Amino acid sequence: MSPRCGVPDNDDYSKLHITKHYSFLNGRPTWHGSTVPLMLNYALSEEHTIDYINNISDVLERAFSKWSSVIPVNFTETQDYKHANIKIGFYYGDHGDESPFDDMVLAHATGPGSGAFIHFNAGIIWAVDFNSEKSKSAFDLETTAIHEMGHVLGLDHSSNEESVMWPYTTPRKLWTMSMVFKFSTAHSKIQT
Ligand SMILES: [Zn+2]
Ligand SMILES: [Zn+2]
Repeated sequence: MSPRCGVPDNDDYSKLHITKHYSFLNGRPTWHGSTVPLMLNYALSEEHTIDYINNISDVLERAFSKWSSVIPVNFTETQDYKHANIKIGFYYGDHGDESPFDDMVLAHATGPGSGAFIHFNAGIIWAVDFNSEKSKSAFDLETTAIHEMGHVLGLDHSSNEESVMWPYTTPRKLWTMSMVFKFSTAHSKIQT
């Protein structure tokens, strides 16, 4: 088994013959009453976090700005965790949402809508910079954050290995610009 995102693959996933760079979550959920650009705020849990990365906010901002650069969406970080559109935290194992983390699951997220969240597996070794994080089993936090935000924006897994929405990953894998271009064409369609 390969390390992967914990969001289950759609039933259609294995049946896809055309390798699309994107597909939408079942029922094509969107953020209701959304303006253009879509304005979303997110908050990082103070309680459920990791302490060895001291600039998580910067990492998330960089990750989410990748989406803002290709679709009309603006993200703002808020300190008001309770009322944030997207609640973000790091959790160990069974953390109360019926999708316990194991060693092979990096993170998971909801689709759009009230109660949206991104959970990262606190048991994973996260890296911001592979020059300073030497572990062979470390995963890039920014890349994972981009993927999970894709779900929050309404995207399902892609069966195309070069898409940011491909569910699997490997340690020390980095985001590449070609992946940015690949999702840029798709994501103009999210809010239409
Ligand atoms: Zn996923
Ligand atoms: Zn969770």
